[in-house]
Amino acid sequence: MQVDVPAEYQHLYVTNEERPVVKIPNPVLRQKATEVDKVGPKVHKLISEMERIMRQANGIGIAAPQIGVGKRVILIAPDGMRPMALINPEIVKVEGPSTPGQEGCLSIPGLYGDVSRQLQVVVHALDRKGRAIEMELEGLPARVVQHEIDHLDGVLFIDKVDTATLHWQDPDKNPEDNE
Ligand code: ZN
Repeated sequence: MQVDVPAEYQHLYVTNEERPVVKIPNPVLRQKATEVDKVGPKVHKLISEMERIMRQANGIGIAAPQIGVGKRVILIAPDGMRPMALINPEIVKVEGPSTPGQEGCLSIPGLYGDVSRQLQVVVHALDRKGRAIEMELEGLPARVVQHEIDHLDGVLFIDKVDTATLHWQDPDKNPEDNE
């Protein structure tokens, strides 16, 4: 699905960083990100940039392509959770019914709609120290991780959204959760 961000939403989530949040139609959002082969200082710098930008934009998750870097790194921080970095994340198991829930995206500011996601997922990844971890996530964290991993494959929530629920939020209101 093709969407254009109206002028009144373009200013949203513009931060002071040298790498602002990348918005559609920037092609990096449609590319498949490449695996990280070494968790070293470059990756740590990327993670701290992503943390700063996500915090400034009040996001609950962010993927490296959203700051213009085509690497398989995501952060999730739903419900005030301390941001957790996942490197080369992979969903290895899905469980439970797929459930609709509202999503918004820092790269498509102002637009919201319902997406069906698996209720529970098991994720394999490397943590910021490069250790292999396995996590079972349920509910909002499971939704956010699915949204962010989609970003690594060039997939956006507008590709999966129930189009009947798509709506632009009043730009003067506080934004809903964005990922
Ligand atoms: Zn997003």
